Amino acid sequence: MRQFSHRTYASLIYLVLLLQVPGGLQAQVRSEPLSPADTSSYRVVLVATGIYVFVAPDGITPMVSGNSTVVIGDDGVLVVDSGQFPSVARWEIAKIRSLTNLPVRYLVNTHWHPDHWLGNGEFRAAFPGVVIVSTPITRNLMETQARPLIDPKIAAATQKAVKGMLSAGKQADGTPIPEGTMLWYRYGLGQLEALAPQLEEVAITYPTELVRDDATFDLGRRPVRVTFLGRGNTEGDLVVYVPDSKTLVTGDLVVHPYPYGFGSFISEWIDRIKQLAAFNATSIIPGHGAVEHDNQYLTEVSVLLESLQRQARSAFGQGMSLEAAAKVVDLTTFRRQMCADGDPYCRYGFDASMAAGFERAYREAKEGKLADQK
Ligand SMILES: [Zn+2]
Repeated sequence: MRQFSHRTYASLIYLVLLLQVPGGLQAQVRSEPLSPADTSSYRVVLVATGIYVFVAPDGITPMVSGNSTVVIGDDGVLVVDSGQFPSVARWEIAKIRSLTNLPVRYLVNTHWHPDHWLGNGEFRAAFPGVVIVSTPITRNLMETQARPLIDPKIAAATQKAVKGMLSAGKQADGTPIPEGTMLWYRYGLGQLEALAPQLEEVAITYPTELVRDDATFDLGRRPVRVTFLGRGNTEGDLVVYVPDSKTLVTGDLVVHPYPYGFGSFISEWIDRIKQLAAFNATSIIPGHGAVEHDNQYLTEVSVLLESLQRQARSAFGQGMSLEAAAKVVDLTTFRRQMCADGDPYCRYGFDASMAAGFERAYREAKEGKLADQK
């Protein structure tokens, strides 16, 4: 199982990453969460004139897919993020065609995680002239980090490994699978089965228009600003802003109901959240989860990240090892707040994400600014 390290799987398949997280779900599930591979679980939300969001199900499951945003101008359309599943991208394209006859001229990829750009090939096939946009860092990470993961063989091997663990009732390290964790594996296995055939269909399509700092794309009397504010959730997060309706699309700098800590840059991310709040946007479209209409959730995220940072610094300052520190970090108030209905999937995902975030915060306390994405 060594080869299934969480580095290998970060972001494509959270499932395996989560195998390494201690603890488990309480066996009190009321219903299974919606799956992002299923188009009937998406909501189409109008946030301003000519701005629609395909809101994916909450990203609280082992595998996730990001929201997509559609901005329609007088001459063309800009889309932010194309999701994880080609079938969902095709469904989105059909919806866009029912909303407008104009072509998609720009497709922005906010960051390198595959759940935000594996649908690119579908958009290119449907709109051959589409210009795909990202930061140069993201373009590079797509090739070096994401590309090796987009491999049906990996999905098949993962399925096999998880099935083996489920039937043995033991985790990779030989310890028994806690009852609740079993639930997570079972759900993730179902999701993998839905994704595996789709990986065969993915036409890897990279961005060609690289935005280093800032660019404006005019859709016809509708300028759209695309900006790199600095490192945060990843090394190359782009944010998209439509000034005429004060609509801000954040990528995974903001994820509802809890932030994703994997591979993040905690102290820089805190600064990014402040910058996002300064937009005073009317609508904030997160990478996953429901659209926000004020800064309240941004504040919650920022308080959480600051707490992670403070606890990591304090533990390191007291000479605690990462392992020891991880046992005493306390985020229960945040978990209660963010997984308000006590959903066990949300609580499990929160713990996994925060364990990863805490490791990053601890490493920052020890090493200073982190050089890597892992
Ligand atoms: Zn995402």
